[in-house]
Amino acid sequence: MFSLQDAGRAAIDRQERTSLDPDDWQALRRQGHQMLDDMFDHLQTLGTKPVWQHAPSSARALFDAPLPIEASDLAEVHAIFREKVLPYGSGNIHPGFMGWVQGGGTVTGMLAEMLAGGLNANLGGRDHMPIEVERQIIRWTREIFSFPETAGGIFLTGASQANFVAVQIARCRKLGRDVRATGLSDESRLVAYASNEVHGCVPRAFEMSGIGSDQLRRIAVNNLGQIDIDALEQAILRDRREGLVPFLIIGSAGTVNTGAVDDLAALRHIADSYDLHFHVDGALGALGVLSPDLAHLFAGIDSCDSLAFDFHKWGQVPYDAGFLLVRDSEWQRQTFASDAAYLSRAASGLAGGDWWPCDYGPDLSRGFRALKTWFTLKTYGVKALGDAMSANCRLARRLAERIDREPQLKLLAPVALNIVCFAYVGADGAIPASINSHIVERLHAEGRVAPSLTHLNGQPAIRAAIVNHRTRQADVDQLVHSVLTIGSRQDLPQC
Ligand SMILES: *Cc1c(COP(=O)(O)O)cnc(C)c1O
Repeated sequence: MFSLQDAGRAAIDRQERTSLDPDDWQALRRQGHQMLDDMFDHLQTLGTKPVWQHAPSSARALFDAPLPIEASDLAEVHAIFREKVLPYGSGNIHPGFMGWVQGGGTVTGMLAEMLAGGLNANLGGRDHMPIEVERQIIRWTREIFSFPETAGGIFLTGASQANFVAVQIARCRKLGRDVRATGLSDESRLVAYASNEVHGCVPRAFEMSGIGSDQLRRIAVNNLGQIDIDALEQAILRDRREGLVPFLIIGSAGTVNTGAVDDLAALRHIADSYDLHFHVDGALGALGVLSPDLAHLFAGIDSCDSLAFDFHKWGQVPYDAGFLLVRDSEWQRQTFASDAAYLSRAASGLAGGDWWPCDYGPDLSRGFRALKTWFTLKTYGVKALGDAMSANCRLARRLAERIDREPQLKLLAPVALNIVCFAYVGADGAIPASINSHIVERLHAEGRVAPSLTHLNGQPAIRAAIVNHRTRQADVDQLVHSVLTIGSRQDLPQC
């Protein structure tokens, strides 16, 4: 029987209550299911909506609100999201998105993110099952890239961080673990090499590392956009003659502008000859090894010392899910492990476990990126992921062929993977910068397809990066049709 005493305790509980869990779990269930259904509806009807639309100022104003002191109803907050955020995303999930190298995400990945959020695991270390899930992904990536048993790996936000961490590892390998304490000295004189098509995060990694981006030699590329191996070797010899200390080569497995893949086997050979760490930035391309049609393009990738790549690009795992694979996990420990008392290990219990990610990378608190990656690999299987990449490349090749047939269009770079750079050619045969930039802006405003604008050899280029598993031939046809239509409208004789 309910007593007065019980009533008193309930009143005290209410007063002291600080838990953020709901009072009414039934109501929460209804609202939660509604939120899930709304998102499924959105994904199911994506193709009928614009790729992108400019967010109106009324939407932006809602996010210039005062700090909420008191509670709001979850349903009301969700309504704001549904009406003011959801329609104004950047569009990378949309089949017509070709602007930048961004993944499309999947429903499986989305659901796994929800589960990971519920569990709220911290993957810095200790003895719990989420750590084992991350170790499973390390073992699978070893298998994907034919790396040895000694190899280690770690999830990071993205390839920008993975490239940065690789620079730190290479620095430690060259100068020894003591450099962590002493820092670089005038005698260190480290220099590294990459092509001048390398991604901008690589020079930034040198800035952040304290080595300085001037110490990253940018080597010319050949007509396929690959690093010029002879020029690379000349640069290394020149630096050695001057008493500098070459320590690292960074190859690209898919350059950001054109998708070119460096000759990785040749880079391995050079790295061996001059005792350099060989890192590969495979952010956009490396997972292409999952496609039997594409794997040959990455010959030699299994020989690198470290490999950065993004599950969130071609792997279609929702953001963020960058990864660094390292040939010898001991190199990671040498670079990052420390023995703070509050991180001490026990032989058993929760503070046990023999693999603590915080010893292998820069982060202590880490989310459960491994879960959405595990769900993605398990539910789709790597064959389907590889097939989607192969289909992207097929679309890119057909687009290039079509461009070659259209007198008003010109292909500006060979198509190695899934990126096509081309331009609208004016009536006078020149490539007008203003028309090409206008075309891209106009396409974004129309919202059916969204390529981006880049520059190649000083020329403006319309860039279609076909990364999304949802993109179809019809989307590519739409791109060509719209470029020709907008271009011809602009390209009227001056009077
Ligand atoms: C996207 C990209 C990066 C940066 O990766 P993030 O995951 O965005 O940090 C680095 N290199 C290349 C070639 C890329 O395409």
